[in-house]
Amino acid sequence: MNPYVSLADLPLRPELKGTQPYGAPQIDVPVRLNTNENPYPPSEAVITDLQKAFAQIAADINRYPDREAIELRTALADYLNQQLPSTSPSGLIAENTWAANGSNEVMTHLCQAFAGPDRKVLTFTPTYSMYPEYVRNTHSSYVRVARGADYRIDLKSALTAIAEHDPHVVLIATPNNPTGTTTDLDTIRAIAAATDKIVVIDEAYQEFSRHPELTALSLLPEFANLVVVRTMSKAFAFAGGRVGYLAANPAIVDACRIVRLPYHLSTQTQRFAMVGLAHAGEMLSNVAKLRAVRDDMLTRLPQLGVEVIDSDANFCLFGRFDDRHDVWEQLVQNGVLVRETGPDGWLRVSAGTPAECEAFFSALARVLGR
Ligand SMILES: *Cc1c(COP(=O)(O)O)cnc(C)c1O
Repeated sequence: MNPYVSLADLPLRPELKGTQPYGAPQIDVPVRLNTNENPYPPSEAVITDLQKAFAQIAADINRYPDREAIELRTALADYLNQQLPSTSPSGLIAENTWAANGSNEVMTHLCQAFAGPDRKVLTFTPTYSMYPEYVRNTHSSYVRVARGADYRIDLKSALTAIAEHDPHVVLIATPNNPTGTTTDLDTIRAIAAATDKIVVIDEAYQEFSRHPELTALSLLPEFANLVVVRTMSKAFAFAGGRVGYLAANPAIVDACRIVRLPYHLSTQTQRFAMVGLAHAGEMLSNVAKLRAVRDDMLTRLPQLGVEVIDSDANFCLFGRFDDRHDVWEQLVQNGVLVRETGPDGWLRVSAGTPAECEAFFSALARVLGR
C-alpha cells in the first residue's frame, strides 16, 4: 500500500508542511488580467525569426548549451546600455550581467549565494508574493518592514530596520508589485549606502514607469553592493520564453555562477531571447498603449466609487471590498479574471488591451451594481 497519498503524509521539511504551490489560478476565461503579462502577441517577423532560430539549434540539440550564456549576456548588456541616459558614466559588458529562467531564478541565485541559514532577507511589505518563497527555499529568514500609508518606503523606518537586523539581502521591487508604487533613486541610494550587504532592486516593471530613465542602473557605478534585476516577461512580451537577468558588479555575477545549476539556461532559451532582443524596439512597441490603459484605469476606477493606488506599472490595485473574494468570483462569472492578492480588501488588475479594459469596466460596473 502507498503510504504517501498526499503531501500531508510525506516526510516533508517542517517549514513546507501545510503550504501550497505558488501560483495565480490559470482559469480559462475570455479576459485574463491576472498575471501582468503583455497581452500583445509577437509580430509575424518575430515569429519567423523564432522559427529560423529553432531550425538552426535543432541540429545541435545533442550538445549542452553555453554554460555562461555569453552571447546572450552581451546582448543584454547592450540592451541595458540603451536604457541608460546617455550622460550615465559606465557602459555595461557581459561580465556585469547574469541571466536565468526568469528573474525569479535570478533572485533565487542571489538568495542562494548571499542569504541562507542564520541570515536575513529584508523587504518592504506589501510586496511580491514570491519573495517569502525564495527566502524559505534558501533556509533564510524573512524580515518584513511595513511600507507607509501611501505604500511607499519610509526611509527612516528602512534605515532603522537595516541597522537593527543587518540583513544580508535587501529586496526592493520598484515599481512595486502589487501596489505599483515607485521607490525614488535618493531612497535607493540611501539604503545602498546604509549597508555593505547586497541590495537588490527588482525593476520587473520599470519600462512601464512614467520615468523609465530613472533606473537604479544609473547607481551601479556608485555601489558595488547594488544589483538591478530585470525580466523579459512583462514589458518585453516574452513571458513564455522565461528569461530574467541582472546587472551588477562582476564579483556578484561570479557568486551567481557558483550556485547556478549546470547548463541552467537551455539552448533554445538563449537563442530565442537573442531573437527577442534583436527586435527590442518592436517587442516594446506596445508599452505606450499599456501605459495609456493603466492611466485610463487610474482615472475611471474612482468614477465607479472604487479606490485605486497610483501605479507606475502595468496593473492597478483597487478596492477596498468587505469581501474581495466575492468580488473576484463575480468578476470571473462575468468573464474577467483579476488577481486576489495584496492587502486585505484589495484586488489587482493588469492593463490589457483597450478592449479587455472595457470588458473589465463593464463587468465591474455590473458586479458593483452601478
Ligand atoms: C512578474 C514579476 C517578476 C518576473 O518574474 P519572471 O520570473 O521574470 O517571469 C519579478 N518580480 C516581480 C515583482 C514581478 O511581479
